[in-house]
Parts: sequence; structure tokens; C-alpha cells
Amino acid sequence: MIPPLVVGNWKMHGTQSQCRDLARRVARGLKRKGRQIDVALAPPNTALEIVKKVIEGSQIRLAAQDAHWEDQGAFTGEVSAMMLKDSGCEFVILGHSERRHILNESDLVVAKKVQAALRNGLRAILCVGETLAERQAGRTQSVVTRQLRIALKGLGKSAIDNVEFAYEPVWAIGTGLNATSEQIARVHGRIRQFLKASFGNRKGNAARILYGGSVKPENAAEILRTPGVNGLLVGGASLRAETFLAIVNCSALPG
Ligand code: PEP
Repeated sequence: MIPPLVVGNWKMHGTQSQCRDLARRVARGLKRKGRQIDVALAPPNTALEIVKKVIEGSQIRLAAQDAHWEDQGAFTGEVSAMMLKDSGCEFVILGHSERRHILNESDLVVAKKVQAALRNGLRAILCVGETLAERQAGRTQSVVTRQLRIALKGLGKSAIDNVEFAYEPVWAIGTGLNATSEQIARVHGRIRQFLKASFGNRKGNAARILYGGSVKPENAAEILRTPGVNGLLVGGASLRAETFLAIVNCSALPG
């Protein structure tokens, strides 16, 4: 059985010293023995180096929150997947709804970023999810399918070995509203069905599909019990070590 993955997305929060302290507290608080769980922290780029030093030798992995699709070039302000790999990242979050909706990232841009991540040896955490208007119009499954189809187009069969998937309903991110188990199960089922049809049953069944959207210690266990959920992408609750650790520790499978 693949271990669950729990990712803390710190977004645009934290000075270097704040990020170092938070990473230290998380590293110290992880219950390691006999537990099967993968944990990754995604600090802002300015704190990657400092967090990398803190988590060295621990089971925590380093993640970035985004990457440009080119390896280098005249793209002022951008950071490439190649640079993030060089900085010690193992994962990169791509297609996060804040980038899709606030920064107008299209499905095609997300696709190019997925290719750049894989080309540079990073594991992509590909986020998909519908807005409230799309859900209310009954378009959830078609939106998620379109996002997956475009993001994964042209990838070879083995490419999804290096992709983690995250279903993040836009209306649940940072709002305190989380999707019900039934809603999550339906979308996760659709994602898995799509992956099996595109990459074969074995690969589709092995893919990790996370849920993200207002995950807290109070709802994490129930979400993780939902069929098809293989981990969590946590925003707000990852900014305090106590709440993030409570989520991580209830996510671990017994060893
Ligand atoms: C996220 O940023 O991916 C997220 C799920 O945020 P929050 O947990 O705050 O809803």
C-alpha cells in the first residue's frame, strides 16, 4: 500500500526565521517510528534553502509552490523547475487554483509546467478543481476531466509515476468550507477512472490523489477515510506546527 502524502503549502507567508522555526517544530513533532507517511513542506522560495537545512536527515521532503515552464531565459521574477531541483526540491505544486484564478494560468500553461517539472526530475503535485459556479452548473466532473486531459496530454505512460494529484475545489480553499465525503469520493473516483483509462489500470490504481480545501485537525481523519483519498494538501492549517502535526499524525498508516 502506498503511504499517504501530506503537503503543507505555506503560500506567501513567512520570513526566513519564521519559516525556519516552523520547519523545526514540524520536524521535531513528527512521530516517526512504525508510521507510514510522506510529508512535504512548500515554503516560499526565499525560505527554501533555510527549510532544506532544517529538514535534512528527516523524513520531510522539500516542495516548491510553482515553477516556470522554461529552464532559463528572460522571464523576470520567475523561477524554473531546473532551479528548484538544484535548490533541493523534490516536489513542485502546479496548477494551484490561486495561480489559475488570480494569476490567470491556463490549462496549457499548467501542462507546460508539468512537462518542465518531470523533465527536471521533480515530482509534480498537479492541482485540479472546480469553482462554485462550475459546481452549481453541474460541471464539476467535466472541468476536472478537462484540466487533467490538457495537463497530461502527450506524456508517456510512465510519466504519472512522478505525478501526485490533488483535488482542490476552489470554493473550499481558504474559505473554511470543505467538500463532503460524498463529493470528494465522486471526484476522486472520476480522477482515478481518467488515469486508468489514460495510463492503464495498474498505474491509475497506484496514483496518489490528495484532497485539499480547508483541511483541519477536526476534519482530516474523516476526509482520509473517504474512498480514493491518498493524502492531503493543507494550506492555512500548515502555518501552525500544532495543527499541521495533528493532521499529519492522524494521516499516518500503522507501520
Ligand atoms: C491550498 O492552498 O492548497 C489549500 C488547500 O488551502 P487551505 O487548506 O487553506 O484551504
